[in-house]
Amino acid sequence: MDYRRIKRILFVNVFMNCVFISLQDKEKVLLDMVESGGELGWLTWPDQNGWEIAQQAVNGTLLYSYFVCNVEAREQDNWLRTTFIQRHPTATRVFVEMRFLVRDCNSFNAHSLTCKETFNLYASEADADIGTSFRKGQFRKVATIAPDEISRVGNMRVNIETKVVENLSRKGFYLAFQDIGACVAIYSVRVYYKTCPATVKSLAAFPETVAVAGGENQALREVVGACVENAESEDQPRIYCTVDGEWVVPVGQCQCSPGYEAVDDTCQECKPDFFKASVSNEACEPCPKNTHPSGPAAVSCPCLEGFYRAPEDPMTSACSGLPSPPKTLTATTAQMAIGKLELSWSPPGDTGGRSDITYNVVCERCEGSVCLPCGDKVRYEPSNTDIKETSVIISELEPHLNYTFTVEARNGVSQLSSRRATSTISTALHYTDPPSVTGMRLVGRSSTSLSLSWSVSRRANPSTIRYKLMYCEKEKDEAKTGKTYTVLVLEKNIVEISHLSPSTVYLFQVQALSPESNVGSNSVEEEFSTLPEVGSTAVILGAVAGGGAILLIVLVVLLLRKRRKNSHTRQGPEDAYFSSSEQLKPLKTYVDPHTYEDPNTAVLKFASEIHPSHITKQKVIGAGEFGEVFRGILKVPGRKEAAVAIKTLKPGYTEKQRQDFLSEASIMGQFSHQNIIRLEGVVTKFKHAMIITEYMENGALDKYLRDHDGEMSSFQLVGMLRGIAAGMKYLSDMSYVHRDLAARNILVNSNLECKVSDFGLSRVLEDDPEGTYTTSGGKIPIRWTAPEAIAYRKFTSASDVWSFGIVMWEVMAFGERPYWDMSNHEVMKAINEAFRLPAPMDCPSAVYQLMLQCWLQDRSKRPRFQDILSLLDKLLKSPDSLKTIADFDPRVSIRLPSTSGSDGSPFRSVSEWLESIKMSQYSENFSMAGIVSMEQVLQMKSEDIRNIGVRLPGHLKRIAYSILGLKDQTSTLSVFAV
Ligand code: AMP
Repeated sequence: MDYRRIKRILFVNVFMNCVFISLQDKEKVLLDMVESGGELGWLTWPDQNGWEIAQQAVNGTLLYSYFVCNVEAREQDNWLRTTFIQRHPTATRVFVEMRFLVRDCNSFNAHSLTCKETFNLYASEADADIGTSFRKGQFRKVATIAPDEISRVGNMRVNIETKVVENLSRKGFYLAFQDIGACVAIYSVRVYYKTCPATVKSLAAFPETVAVAGGENQALREVVGACVENAESEDQPRIYCTVDGEWVVPVGQCQCSPGYEAVDDTCQECKPDFFKASVSNEACEPCPKNTHPSGPAAVSCPCLEGFYRAPEDPMTSACSGLPSPPKTLTATTAQMAIGKLELSWSPPGDTGGRSDITYNVVCERCEGSVCLPCGDKVRYEPSNTDIKETSVIISELEPHLNYTFTVEARNGVSQLSSRRATSTISTALHYTDPPSVTGMRLVGRSSTSLSLSWSVSRRANPSTIRYKLMYCEKEKDEAKTGKTYTVLVLEKNIVEISHLSPSTVYLFQVQALSPESNVGSNSVEEEFSTLPEVGSTAVILGAVAGGGAILLIVLVVLLLRKRRKNSHTRQGPEDAYFSSSEQLKPLKTYVDPHTYEDPNTAVLKFASEIHPSHITKQKVIGAGEFGEVFRGILKVPGRKEAAVAIKTLKPGYTEKQRQDFLSEASIMGQFSHQNIIRLEGVVTKFKHAMIITEYMENGALDKYLRDHDGEMSSFQLVGMLRGIAAGMKYLSDMSYVHRDLAARNILVNSNLECKVSDFGLSRVLEDDPEGTYTTSGGKIPIRWTAPEAIAYRKFTSASDVWSFGIVMWEVMAFGERPYWDMSNHEVMKAINEAFRLPAPMDCPSAVYQLMLQCWLQDRSKRPRFQDILSLLDKLLKSPDSLKTIADFDPRVSIRLPSTSGSDGSPFRSVSEWLESIKMSQYSENFSMAGIVSMEQVLQMKSEDIRNIGVRLPGHLKRIAYSILGLKDQTSTLSVFAV
């Protein structure tokens, strides 16, 4: 029986059913019998009767196999040796996969007792191909190959067996299959080693690595990788390759470099307008606000011009600008000890988009036009740099110097620009200036008394100054070598000295004493004489009047008296109700210009004449009753140039109008106080009469407050009120009743000092647009006037106190109109029914209580200006006292007719509502934020209002309160009953 022929037939069937497994990446094939086709060139030993090659065409492909089937012969030893297999240098371990068939010995006849069912695999290493020389002894046995399945006729079973040949070390090796008497067909031998294929894990690339055991028989082999392009890592990335070709345990992480982001296993550059600043796994981000668009692979987006990034700012934050200068810089010496002042300001309107605002204060001492740094001696509390608050107390200043303070607002990027956001203020320490006395004059005399008054230098605050008056008889003084003066210390710049000798010349010297230091200034010396004794009056009067008759004089006196009674005099004897603490009887110091027969005389007496050539008009700043008001320059030879306000008399005036016009100067000229507008002089001797006063840069107080609504602290507002109260105390001490005290008649200078103005005689009747005719025929500013003055023209300092209360309310409400849109009639009715204005928003409780005191029906119970001044001083000295805020009712403090429409109809638009609460400037903020209906407005919380860009606390509150008020509307009046 030809077994070989039988087997060939059988094997063909097996080939046809064979499934070839595709090679995996990790298997690196060194030899593949099937792939090599017929050109195997394997060696058989012995040449005859051993392994044979068979060839079969299957589907057009020639397939080869080796077979042997000497089952009937004894002691078989047939070798089949492969060609030389080159080894990969690191592949010390190879796999040999064999596909083969083994014929079942039982399928042969009885003679086949020698039949085997296994064969052996051998291997032999060599450094070079040794060709056909074959020596069995050089081979070591790898394994006995036994089939899992044996084949019978009609039932062919393919075995697949893989064996490992280990510890290879030479350049190559041979494999050999030893047959010892089996019926075997080998139709596939595949020799390969395993690798971990090249891979990228966590942005680290690892090379293909032969999967063999690591050192010291470790099953894992450590492989060092490298970050992919544009990625980096602090530690070298590592991974382990298992003997099975698996990557395990990656160590260390690669991250994309700045300007690149991870996309799959690569780092891609950031797209234009995107950037990435650091080594990270984050994605690129869009360029932030205020930056230039960036190119590809940007690591940052450069700031636009004028915008910066602070060193500590992350690249992801928007670039920010510089702040604007601090606002409303003021210097206050009030309530301060010698050499001390308080500098305060409001935060800048524009913070540059940052919240890290600080301030630096620079102090310079100025003499003339030369300014030098103040040096180390000056102390700042809390500091002069990096101040977070908006005020600083500066001490150790020298009393006689002018100082310039520059406050710079800074934020985190200020250091990156040379631009500075500064506000500057110049100030002299008024209170410590030794005040100088000027213009001592005689204001009245008799045979036994002399009444004198004098002025103090403009810098001094007369209300805080005392005077040392020394006098003696002139003849006595001249006759003797030593002077014997009588010395008086006075609190006013006016005095009546009695018990003097008739027809005697006296020498007077006055020296001003500053309140803190008692430093005396230069003294002014004048001489005045008493009148002759009463018996000789006719002779004297005759001389004065040029020989007129006594009767005539008496008539004139009577006429004058009568006129005074009927005139617009501001003062009756009962009006001087403020007591005086002076040791001398106080003089009725204010002199009504109407007591002069010729008002021109009064003007000349109280005002100095200025030549028009010394005045330059620059710009119209207002309109008075008599003509335009200009800003201009006064340059009197020998005196420093000064900014002035010039009141003019319009052409076509009557003589009466001219006198009324100039009467304001006659009144103003009698006053000398820091909080009373100062008269510089008059032009009367030329066709165009003028009144020249100091220039008040910030104009009328009511408008100033409305323009700076919400920008000032309560402390600053109370400081302003304190100034007004000081001015009013001075006026009341002089027994002058103003009658038209209102914020519109207070002027504000660049230091935010407030000064009382508007002293014209006919002013209340004619000039004030608020003036309203009453039933008694007078024209009265109803909202500001005390009830008794409206009812029966009882104008007193106590009625001025009522008006001061209204001014307090105007100030604390930032120029709001008292009683809003109520008619004068409604106001009078409400006041009579004991209603009073409610507390303005954010008004300190103590301040509101003072207002209510000023509005007491019984005028004798109202505080006096002296009391008001002391109380305001006390509040300013302990600012904590301003922290308790009076109850505020938004329903009445925002103009109600507008909050709901007087007819109760709702607002038609957001802008209409904003206009009604005078916050139109925020219309755009609302619309930009998409808040376009009142329904949306009603949903807003404080937070939302701030988020749309309303930053000033005052404005924030106003809007928030208005929304509150809209939600809860009730009637106006009933709420503010006292
Ligand atoms: P009067 O006639 O005094 O009411 O002045 C009319 C307007 O002129 C005032 O409301 C101010 O706006 C302006 N004005 C008057 N006097 C001054 C001044 N001394 N400094 C600045 N502005 C002034």
